[in-house]
Amino acid sequence: MVTVHIPGKDETLEIDHLVLDFNGTLAVDGRIKPGVADLLKELARNLRVHIVSAGTFGGVDNEVQGIPCVLKILSGADQTGQKARYVEELGAEHSACIGNGRNDLAMLEKAKLGIVVIQEEGAATASLLAADVVCRDVVSALQLLLQPLRLTATLRT
Ligand SMILES: [Mg+2]
Repeated sequence: MVTVHIPGKDETLEIDHLVLDFNGTLAVDGRIKPGVADLLKELARNLRVHIVSAGTFGGVDNEVQGIPCVLKILSGADQTGQKARYVEELGAEHSACIGNGRNDLAMLEKAKLGIVVIQEEGAATASLLAADVVCRDVVSALQLLLQPLRLTATLRT
């Protein structure tokens, strides 16, 4: 579990699950971004890591090899709903989500902590507005969870 106290809101986030979009978030053009695998391995000591992907570019399973995670490949329609339901089943109250696209909106909204990343693909404006925090890239986003005092500073009122 990662615990983050938010002064002002007098709230404590207790995060057990980290759910990540793949393309545009962990990967660019289907290839995982530098530094991401090591950060996820470190986070996996305290959190259950879940990677959800529509598999747009293929080869996701190869890219995430060696990362301790649950890989969820989506198929069919309503991937926005599928991602959100996945988070609900895990327990949205104890989940953090990181994503960038329009189909990440509902999971970002439902999760206790939603982080949107911009980086190469950009972020869908609607998803950005549904998130609690906006990061320029996924390395910064993952580091927020490794150094929760940074999150406290961003979210306190
Ligand atoms: Mg994406």
